[in-house]
Amino acid sequence: MSVRELYDGKSRPALSLEFFPPKTETGKRNLLERMVRMSALDPLFITVTWGAGGSTAEKTLELAAIAQRSLNVPVCMHLTCTNTDKTVIDEALRTCQQVGIRNILALRGDACIEDCVDQESATQDAVEFKHAVDLVKYIREQYGSYFCIGVAAYPEGHCEGEAEASEQDPLRDLPYLKQKIDAGADFVITQLFYDVGKFLKFHKLFVDHVSAEIPLIPGLMPINSFLLFNRAAKLSHASIPQYILDKIPPEVQPDDNAVKSICVDVLADIIDTIYRETNGRVKCFHFYTLNLEKAVAHIVAKSHVLHHIMKEAEEEEEEEAKTRAD
Ligand code: FAD
Repeated sequence: MSVRELYDGKSRPALSLEFFPPKTETGKRNLLERMVRMSALDPLFITVTWGAGGSTAEKTLELAAIAQRSLNVPVCMHLTCTNTDKTVIDEALRTCQQVGIRNILALRGDACIEDCVDQESATQDAVEFKHAVDLVKYIREQYGSYFCIGVAAYPEGHCEGEAEASEQDPLRDLPYLKQKIDAGADFVITQLFYDVGKFLKFHKLFVDHVSAEIPLIPGLMPINSFLLFNRAAKLSHASIPQYILDKIPPEVQPDDNAVKSICVDVLADIIDTIYRETNGRVKCFHFYTLNLEKAVAHIVAKSHVLHHIMKEAEEEEEEEAKTRAD
């Protein structure tokens, strides 16, 4: 089923989950078990990442296909287009169609650092696929309305590589985001952020200047340690507001459990604030899970907006336990 149909049909707040394909067979087995357990959180959809330049093509397609077949949750596969041989893109889209995947997150991708496929033809195709909008157009041209297409947005502005934060400007990206919507994108997932004020400003820009109908799904990354928190924020060019830093004083920073617990409250509060301040217009929250299970469940349990999900999962579990006992 398409993400857009599911989103439009959903009356209660929901979540979605991102996973990346593990490198090893053991990693894949463990992840699949975790994905089954996490489907108790009733995600609206799950996404599977794609390595820049097609570097994880085989593993992404395999994981996405297994998930689509074995979980009762629609899959959205990420697909990047720059520095990628067009045959890799064609093959990926064909495979998705064959295995029943209806959702693609169409991305430009960054210059790949390692394992890029066929550099020579990749350079030629880079001309055809310069920006994500080119991939959106291509999918629409080749597949009509078969795929529901998602695109990326950046509440604090997109930033290239090592560029300074001062070079980020969401207003500059806005016309290009609109181009992606006009080319046929059906929903938007944002880059991770921790400054809820910046997201809310961006949401207003989006509604006023891009679309009041297209779902804007905020991307959230649970925090598992202070070190990883800083690293993820830096890599994603996301700012960390002072009020969050104040909650994690230097003596607490080395204590991963304490940091996790503080940040569960921070993220639950971000979700509740977004839902309240957008009057429920934003009703799906996308988690960059890093393939980890517990932090998401803790945030869901703490958030007033998502708490019903945890309650329903527990009731279902009790029901199953009773059936087994009978
Ligand atoms: P675009 O929409 O093409 O935008 C890139 C930049 O170009 C922006 O600065 C934009 O303003 C500018 N621009 C766009 N169109 C034009 C135009 N016509 N003329 C001039 N400038 C233009 N990367 C991966 O490799 N694999 C993944 O699985 C992956 N998943 C992601 C999931 C999400 C939710 C997000 C937010 C990002 C993800 N990324 C992933 C990272 C993404 O590939 C990079 O951020 C990349 O640098 C930009 O991709 P985009 O699709 O936003 O590009």
